[in-house]
Amino acid sequence: MIKTIGVIGAGQMGSGIAHVGALAGFNVLLQDINPAQLEKAVQTITGNMNRQVARGKIDEATRDAALGRIKTSGDIKVFEEAGIVIEAATENESLKKKILVELCPVLPKHVLIATNTSSISVTRLGSVTDRPEKFMGMHFMNPVPVMQLVELIRGIATEEATFREVRELTVKLGKTPANAEDFPAFIVNRILLPMINEAIYTLYEGVGSVEAIDTGMRLGANHPMGPLQLADFIGLDTCLSIMQVLYEGLADSKYRPCPLLVKYVEAGWLGRKTNRGFYDYRGEHPTPTR
Ligand code: NAD
Repeated sequence: MIKTIGVIGAGQMGSGIAHVGALAGFNVLLQDINPAQLEKAVQTITGNMNRQVARGKIDEATRDAALGRIKTSGDIKVFEEAGIVIEAATENESLKKKILVELCPVLPKHVLIATNTSSISVTRLGSVTDRPEKFMGMHFMNPVPVMQLVELIRGIATEEATFREVRELTVKLGKTPANAEDFPAFIVNRILLPMINEAIYTLYEGVGSVEAIDTGMRLGANHPMGPLQLADFIGLDTCLSIMQVLYEGLADSKYRPCPLLVKYVEAGWLGRKTNRGFYDYRGEHPTPTR
């Protein structure tokens, strides 16, 4: 039975997974190569749990116990005690493969490994591990404490027992699993990202302003948030990586990333996490940058 969850990468997703894991009673080992990210993750998790206390969703004792179950580290060896390790580092295939190759010698043979990749082939990532049968995709949604869904993706070698255990863990974390086959970007991002990319083309071609596009989709299609605001929220680097995976993986020009998205990423305008994307987040309220 899994008691300790390891999480690689303490960014938006890693910190959210740590939050949910600790509140569900698991010990959490959160690792990142960037010490500043680990500090920021603890601050974010504490702030988000404080908000849950203020809203009466959890009490202070529950918050304190959950925070006490989270241990942070810069060293991958911290995962020696984990029952499962969830990789949630930057969306880049060679980086993820490098992490997995370094991780395997640290883990006892029975330990499961999951990846939170948004788009990259689970089969390809699993193939660099020493246990592809114990490897699968566990795709949480952002923000993890709020969003109900976890997409579960089996690689070609994933064993049924691994799938069952990860499914059980998903339910214990209070989430609802949905199964997807191992095709580029799975289900949710296969549908969502081309829409976001098209919204960026709409801006690029001057069809509408940031405000008009987001207001249009909020009030005209009843989306809770406009596509450009959502892109900022996901992270423009992650959006670009997913479009590249779709474009290359499905070999169809309809998935070509919008040049404006490429330019924003090259400028380091990655959305909320860098305080600038389609909106500028440095003031009291977000304002469109274009
Ligand atoms: P992020 O940029 O917020 O965080 C990535 C973290 O990975 C950073 O803290 C970085 O320091 C860390 N990292 C990089 N190299 C590392 C290494 N070698 N070892 C340990 N840590 C390392 O990105 P994110 O939004 O949290 O995305 C992480 C993963 O989750 C990606 O695969 C992404 O596709 C996926 N995902 C993202 C979203 C989203 O909406 N942002 C949703 C679902 C899944």
